[in-house]
Amino acid sequence: MSKSGFASDVLRWFDRHGRKNLPWQKNISAYRVWLSEIMLQQTQVTTVIPYFERFTERFPDVRQLAAAPVDEVLHLWTGLGYYARARNLHRCAQQIVAEHGGEFPDSVDELSALPGIGRSTAGAIASIAFGRRAPILDGNVKRVLARHYAVEGWPGQTRVANTLWQYAEQHTPERRCADYTQAMMDLGATVCTRTRPACELCPLGASCIARAQGNPTDYPGKKPKKDKPVKAVQFLMLRNPAGDILLEQRPAQGIWGGLWGFPELNVDSDPHEHVADHYGAVAQREVWDSYRHTFSHYHLEITPVLLQLAREPEKVSESGAACWYCLDDPEALGLAAPVKRLLQKLAELDLRLSRTSGQG
Ligand code: SF4
Repeated sequence: MSKSGFASDVLRWFDRHGRKNLPWQKNISAYRVWLSEIMLQQTQVTTVIPYFERFTERFPDVRQLAAAPVDEVLHLWTGLGYYARARNLHRCAQQIVAEHGGEFPDSVDELSALPGIGRSTAGAIASIAFGRRAPILDGNVKRVLARHYAVEGWPGQTRVANTLWQYAEQHTPERRCADYTQAMMDLGATVCTRTRPACELCPLGASCIARAQGNPTDYPGKKPKKDKPVKAVQFLMLRNPAGDILLEQRPAQGIWGGLWGFPELNVDSDPHEHVADHYGAVAQREVWDSYRHTFSHYHLEITPVLLQLAREPEKVSESGAACWYCLDDPEALGLAAPVKRLLQKLAELDLRLSRTSGQG
């Protein structure tokens, strides 16, 4: 969509439907725009209004804010949350007094060098307070642009953010930049809302790709979930000469607490050696394919190893309870799901073997 078409559609909509009576839209100054922008981060307009009014009454300008004790600033901020914003606000006011003679700088570069002012907030101050042509990309604008252009991916990723900034830059008009900035924020807050965008009321509805695709709420993409760590273990399926399988009761704490399972061994250890040391000579060994069992916080990569013992061991467990589990006549024990599946598989194999030998 052409630059002028996009901006003029948004501005036309703003003239008819945009918000024009918010407290920070009266007596516009860099101080008031800055204060409102910081308060509006992660906070709704209706929550911010009374705070903004109390704040500007107590601190009508940046000098008075800079001179106040930080505790008083924090006290007035109480209930707005994200208190780092209030501390940065106070530091920023002091820096403006100390380094800029109490006047806000008017360029995006200088503004974004101040504490707590990011590129988008700097753009909002430069455009609304100083009438500069400066793009913004706050949460609302990200949502509108990501949907309009069906930009895939999470905006926290540099690649996605760069694409959105390019669109923001491309559409910011030379004239009426302050109104356009306000219009884009209003459009995101009132029409292109997070969960229920009112596309039929949207000035960008005709050119919006997500609307045409029928999936606006798929944009912007969600933050990718962190990859879960993988722990790898070997399950030792020890079989005595009678064909029974050794199970041990797990400690009460930890995964599968109190259930019965196979002895486990670190994936790097040699099961043959371990079993020979603890349970006696191994007559046969079979390594089965590994598979994954997923917990809420990690994946368990399980490698089952079937080990046929040459003789019945004298002692099977140093600590805790252990038993020989009979596959033909199983005891009613609490079994962890992967253990239960493996025991079933062993029982099926036995059945097949006995059928084969019966036929022979
Ligand atoms: S048409 Fe719908 S999805 Fe597209 S920008 Fe407008 S409100 Fe958002």
